[in-house]
Amino acid sequence: MPKVYNWQLGRDMLYPYEESHPQRQFAFVFNINRCIACQTCTMACKSTWTFSRGQEYMWWNNVETKPYGGYPHFWDAKLLAMLERANPGGQAWNLAPREDAQVPYGVFEGKTIFEAISEEQNPEGETFRETSGRVLGYLPADEEWTAPNIYEDTARRPDRSRWPWGGEGVSLPQHKTWFFYLQRICNHCTYPGCLAACPRQAIYKRPEDGVVLIDQERCRGYRKCVEACPYKKSMYRGTTRTSEKCIACYPRLEGKDPFLTPDGVPIETRCMTACVGKIRMQSLVKIGKDGSWEHDPDNPIYYMVKEEKVALPLYPQFGTEPNAYYIPPRWVPTDYLVQMFGPGVPHAIEAYVCPSRRLLALLQLFRATQKIIFRFSVVEGRKVGESEVTLPGGRKKTLEIFNDTAIGYDANNREIVRLTVEEPIFERSKQYSNSI
Ligand code: SF4
Ligand code: SF4
Repeated sequence: MPKVYNWQLGRDMLYPYEESHPQRQFAFVFNINRCIACQTCTMACKSTWTFSRGQEYMWWNNVETKPYGGYPHFWDAKLLAMLERANPGGQAWNLAPREDAQVPYGVFEGKTIFEAISEEQNPEGETFRETSGRVLGYLPADEEWTAPNIYEDTARRPDRSRWPWGGEGVSLPQHKTWFFYLQRICNHCTYPGCLAACPRQAIYKRPEDGVVLIDQERCRGYRKCVEACPYKKSMYRGTTRTSEKCIACYPRLEGKDPFLTPDGVPIETRCMTACVGKIRMQSLVKIGKDGSWEHDPDNPIYYMVKEEKVALPLYPQFGTEPNAYYIPPRWVPTDYLVQMFGPGVPHAIEAYVCPSRRLLALLQLFRATQKIIFRFSVVEGRKVGESEVTLPGGRKKTLEIFNDTAIGYDANNREIVRLTVEEPIFERSKQYSNSI
C-alpha cells in the first residue's frame, strides 16, 4: 500500500491510493462551547437534501450528546474498541517535544483504520468485519440508525469507585457531572475511508475544493463506504440502492445560488448559516502540492487551526485527516477530550478560555454573514476590561479585553462584515419607547 503524509498524525501512514491534493480544501470550525442542541442545523440540512422517500433515517448533519449519544448508536465507541483489539495498548501518541510545525499535536504511534485492517481478528463473531480488505470498519445494523437523539442531555455522573475525579456536583473549571453536544457532518476527509473502500471508484474528491462526493451513476450500493467511514457519514438509500452523503452544499460553495449570491461569491452551507448558537464558521484553505496548508494566517480557519491551535480534528487517530475542527468544551474532563480530539486539548482549552486579542476579535465573526469569509483583519480599540480566569488544573491567568473591530472579506476581497468585541448599545428615544 502507498504511503501518504498525514500532518494530524505527524507521520506517514498507509493509504490505498497515492497522494493527490485539491487546490483548496473545504474546512470548518465548530465551537462546542456555544452549541445549545437546538437542531436547527439538522433540520436545515434535512429540509434541503434528505426529505425524500428512502431518506427517512438519513441525517447528514446531526448533533448528539456525548458521552453516551451517537448516530448511529455508539459509532465511535465501537470503532475505538476494534482498533484497541487490533493493537492492544498501542494506540498512543509520542509527545516528545518537536520543533516541526507540521507536527502540531505529537506523533501518533498507534494504528489507523487503514493500518489496523490486517490485525483485526474479529474474535467474537460480531458484525465487525473487513471492508474490501482495505479499511477497518463495520456496517451498523438497521436499529442503530434509529433514534438519532438517543441519550440526549444524559450526563456522565461521577462514580467514586471508577471515576478518579470523584465527588458530586460542580467544580469549575471542569464539571464532575457533565455532557456536551457534538455537531457532526461529513468531514470531507483528506484521506477518506469511504473513497478508499469503494470497489467501483464511485467516490471522488473534487480538485477545486476537496469536497468528497459519490457519483450516483457509478454507485451500485455495495455499502463498502458505509462500513469504512469511521464517522458513519455515508448512508445507504434503499429506494435507489445507492449510498448518499453530505455534498457540502456545493452549489452554494460555487456561488451559484442566484437569490443569495447575485455577485457569484461563495456562501456557507445550510447547516452553517442556520446555526442559532453561532458556533460555526467555514472557509476554504489553500493546499500546497505536498498536501500541507499554505501559510495564510489571515484566513480565519487557518488562523484558528494552525496559528492558535484552538480548534482540533475529531478522532485524528482514525487516520482520515478530517477537515472538521472543534473548539473543545472547557467543562469536560481532559482525559475524555484527549481521546476524542488528540493531545492538543489542554492547549486548545487554554487558548479559548484566555484568548489572544486577535482570536477574541475573530470569534465575533462566527455566523455574522452568509458569505464565506476568506480573509479577516482586526482594527485595535481601547482596553475595556480585565479579569482573572481559572484554567484546567487550577492555574490562573489574566485576560485583558479590548474593544477591537473584526472585519471579514469575501472571495473577491471585499469587506462583507465588521463587528466590535463590545456590543454597541442603542437607546431608543422616548418617541419610540416600547408601547406594549
Ligand atoms: S467523513 Fe466519512 S463519508 Fe465523509 S469523507 Fe470522511 S470517510 Fe468519507
Ligand atoms: S444550529 Fe448551532 S446551536 Fe443549534 S444545534 Fe446546530 S450547531 Fe448547535
